[in-house]
Amino acid sequence: MAKKDSRVVDVTAQADALGAGVGGMTAGFAVTLRNMVRSLPGRNSVTIQYPEQRKPYSRRFRGVHVLTLRPDGRLKCVACYLCATACPAECISIEAAESPDPAVEKVARRYEIDLARCIFCGFCVDACPEEALAMTREYDLTTRGRLTELRYGIEELTQRPQIADYGAGYRPHMQYPLVESYLPTNLPPPAAASSPEAPAP
Ligand code: SF4
Ligand code: SF4
Repeated sequence: MAKKDSRVVDVTAQADALGAGVGGMTAGFAVTLRNMVRSLPGRNSVTIQYPEQRKPYSRRFRGVHVLTLRPDGRLKCVACYLCATACPAECISIEAAESPDPAVEKVARRYEIDLARCIFCGFCVDACPEEALAMTREYDLTTRGRLTELRYGIEELTQRPQIADYGAGYRPHMQYPLVESYLPTNLPPPAAASSPEAPAP
């Protein structure tokens, strides 16, 4: 007689031991029922009644992006394209323009993230040398219209009042207590978010 291989798991024997047929079904329903009762409001349950209830996520949560601003309200972004280069989904597009500030070479005249394609990996935030791009904890991003509505430009990436509700999310370099001061909701409207003049050809 062939020796029984100890690596083989005999699921038939295990099912028999647990009780197949009507007995097994009843056991299954009992598990479902037990978890249904556990998930009722007011019970000590992990289920939340979304969207009335919101789960508090960690400050490292990778949600919708935010472009951060300088104290004078101008974008911190210097249009270096590192975020767009790092993005595996190729969903960031930037158009650079000459900066009116002699201390800064370039600014972003157009900055767009196609959030319908974004996989929220955070690579763009990791790549940014200026702390110009951070993530928020905003996670319920939907549209009933066209997917192009999820293509967020400078205005949407800086002027979303909901950023204040969700709070700051993932960014690798910022000190946590400092980050809120960079958020557009705590600053005057961005002067540089309006398009600077195109450089002369
Ligand atoms: S989070 Fe990832 S996929 Fe989304 S824009 Fe940044 S790099 Fe691209
Ligand atoms: S967001 Fe950061 S990485 Fe992207 S272009 Fe602006 S400065 Fe460069």
